[in-house]
Amino acid sequence: MKALGKLKKEIGIDIYNTELPKLKDDEVLIKIKKAAICGTDLSIYQWSEWAKKNVLVPITVGHEFSGVIVEVGANVKNPQIGDRVTAEGHIPCGCCYNCKVSQDQHICRKTLGIGVNKSGCFAEYAIVPYKNIIKLPAYISDEMGALLDPLGNAVHTALSFDLIAQDIIITGAGPIGIMAGDIAAFVGARNIVITDVNPYRLALARKKNNKIVVDTSKEDLNGVLKKLNISGFTIGMEMSGSAEALNSMIDVMRPGGKIALLGILPSKASIDWIKVVFKGLLLKGIYGREMFKTWFQMLSLIKRGLDISYLITHKFDYKNFEDAFKIMATKNCGKVILDWE
Ligand code: NAD
Ligand code: ZN
Repeated sequence: MKALGKLKKEIGIDIYNTELPKLKDDEVLIKIKKAAICGTDLSIYQWSEWAKKNVLVPITVGHEFSGVIVEVGANVKNPQIGDRVTAEGHIPCGCCYNCKVSQDQHICRKTLGIGVNKSGCFAEYAIVPYKNIIKLPAYISDEMGALLDPLGNAVHTALSFDLIAQDIIITGAGPIGIMAGDIAAFVGARNIVITDVNPYRLALARKKNNKIVVDTSKEDLNGVLKKLNISGFTIGMEMSGSAEALNSMIDVMRPGGKIALLGILPSKASIDWIKVVFKGLLLKGIYGREMFKTWFQMLSLIKRGLDISYLITHKFDYKNFEDAFKIMATKNCGKVILDWE
């Protein structure tokens, strides 16, 4: 089969012919329909410091997808052949304290990531343990199915705190930041401010008139507080990975505010701890999606009308993946879809 692989420890991804191993008893084989490119895939393409430490080369990359089950292992009763599906891309060990006792499988230390250290979905076919499969209801299109993984990041972050009637600030209007803003609006937040510095992303965030979009390269957040007539934000969601953005958020949080951190900040980024302590802020790191609470939450949000389809801005045949990665690198895009049909 054709697949996109990280084949060498250098910049780039190649199209190659590969075979999948024999299906194990607890696995399913999926014919991929649509896949979406994540920042992680771009980071693997660009062979970042993170990728050098974490990616098992050679490997088929990709973890955001939808497809149809074409074969099931001997122990699999549900899902079945013909089911339209996507999957949770983190495969926890199932044996550790987090997996067995605290019900925090998403932060299992021995997790394997599809497309990072286990063969991924940028391929005609992919193999996934049946426990990771999420069946797609009829109201979820194939394209939307490929977006559930990042939507899950947004849902996990946004629903970490009670949002109704709260004043929210989101730093970073990437696809996940914008999704988080839409979720906050959907569940009844009072004011939602989202920041970015990239004109394309700012325009994308403005497509839905449910948030106040601020270009922080031009506008000061204290001025935004004045316009809203509030003294600070009660909930923050860091979705840019920028320490500067996090510090500017801390400045405009109300005492007692809560911040969820999804963006991957530089490990040694410095923040003003005095403000964190004196304001009594609560900081919560967010990784992946809760298994499988987040999945149930997002399916329900979509069923009730949450629509993020406008965030798909580019679609490519998988053979044109180089163009897709080029546009991802500019960040002048929302979600970029690869068609495998
Ligand atoms: P993205 O890189 O597409 O978007 C980030 C946005 O932040 C960009 O639009 C960028 O212009 C903006 N930005 C940069 N500096 C800024 C600043 N100083 N102020 C405001 N905005 C600024 O990312 P995404 O796909 O939307 O994901 C959001 C973040 O979450 C990324 O950092 C990503 O690495 C991270 N992530 C974390 C997890 C996890 O499990 N923790 C999972 C997925 C993504
Ligand atoms: Zn575990």
